[in-house]
Amino acid sequence: MSESTLPSEFELIARYFAPLARGYPGAYALLDDAALISPASGNELVVKTDTIVGGVDFLPDTPADLIARKALRVNLSDLAAKGAVARAYLLNLVLPDTIDEAWIADFAAGLAKDQAEYGVHLIGGDTSSTSGPIVIAISAFGETPIGRIIRRGGARPDDTVFVTGTIGDAALGLSVLRAALPALDAPSRAFLANRHRLPQPRVALGPQLIGIASSGIDISDGLVADLRHICAVSRLSAVIDARLVPLSPAARVAISEDPQRLATALTGGDDYEILFTAPGGAAARIAELSRSTGVAITPIGRMQVPTQINHARVTVLDEGGQPLRFASEGWTHFGGR
Ligand code: ADP
Ligand code: MG
Repeated sequence: MSESTLPSEFELIARYFAPLARGYPGAYALLDDAALISPASGNELVVKTDTIVGGVDFLPDTPADLIARKALRVNLSDLAAKGAVARAYLLNLVLPDTIDEAWIADFAAGLAKDQAEYGVHLIGGDTSSTSGPIVIAISAFGETPIGRIIRRGGARPDDTVFVTGTIGDAALGLSVLRAALPALDAPSRAFLANRHRLPQPRVALGPQLIGIASSGIDISDGLVADLRHICAVSRLSAVIDARLVPLSPAARVAISEDPQRLATALTGGDDYEILFTAPGGAAARIAELSRSTGVAITPIGRMQVPTQINHARVTVLDEGGQPLRFASEGWTHFGGR
């Protein structure tokens, strides 16, 4: 940390990160070489890591507390989609010398807020410096009953495809943050931007999908791309009806102003909703789950046996029953398709 204006890494850890380990005995107050996680008897660990890079994964003016909360939440979303209850996380920080102590304080305050909301604890990490952009890597640990993790590959022909919440808000919200939707009313813009900055991982719902969902994924790359991931591993195709895809009132307004924005909503990504499949017989239990958790769960399509040419294809039908064509099926870091 020689070129930085920051205190030493040990002071940073003691001041800002050790308080986040309080209440988790296996974190040893961040004073040991490693931490201990003991899943409940009959459970196993589900692990997940996610890296955020300054200049790639968030806009430059994003407040530090929101960066922290989103970095944590995207991990919690993955765990939820696997049916896991989140317990703890590791934080690796690689800091450029443009980061000051106030930024770290805000970042830690954001983590504290979400730890309280989601019942997870920081149990360790690593701190280093760089002449490049900031890198924030969080690894999260959750637990599921042994053998019950919800996988991408379990979908069956004729299973119904469901999504939680509403789709496309975050992608449209990113357009708002880039000042690309100036004509949209202010409340709609604020709602969409907030959905981009602060996803709502479906942590209460996810574990209750065990025994109901045949497959599941959280939507990070975009509805169409992520359904394609389920299709690929399950070796099936899927057909969804664009009219059934749940949209927020704000997204509806944005799309009514420019119908092209429907493609943004369906392929844009960053929703952090759960996309899952379930057999027809599960419909009543799913409706009950939606009531008890207060999370909308909407059937949007069906899994199918692929013919040779449409292996792992996702078809989105428009209101006339015609397949929609998208320039891109979702976000990827390295281009291609
Ligand atoms: P070591 O030298 O054994 O790798 P460190 O000096 O890197 O250990 O870290 C000391 C302690 O502080 C460890 O418990 C580690 O998990 C914790 N730690 C380091 N950086 C962070 C961080 N960014 N967030 C949370 N804990 C951290
Ligand atoms: Mg050590």
